[in-house]
Amino acid sequence: MSDTVFCYHCRARHPIEEVRQISTKSGKRWRCTRSIVATKKGVNERDDFGRQTTAFNKAMADFKPLPMCLMERHPLVYGLSTVSVM
Ligand SMILES: [Zn+2]
Repeated sequence: MSDTVFCYHCRARHPIEEVRQISTKSGKRWRCTRSIVATKKGVNERDDFGRQTTAFNKAMADFKPLPMCLMERHPLVYGLSTVSVM
């Protein structure tokens, strides 16, 4: 993992030039500029973002934490990633 960074938004790796480190309540996270721009588009989308985030957090509450390397491969996490926006 030399020049890719795990993007918590996409739950995928991006080249380091395409990500920014941002501060969240749970600490510093990496997120790609593309997803940041996408969520800045409009109020409606932002409302949607909030709802999906809540749903995602709920879903994650039922989840036992997994090591990062497992999370990237875990089929359940991949299934979740289609509904999550975080
Ligand atoms: Zn991303």
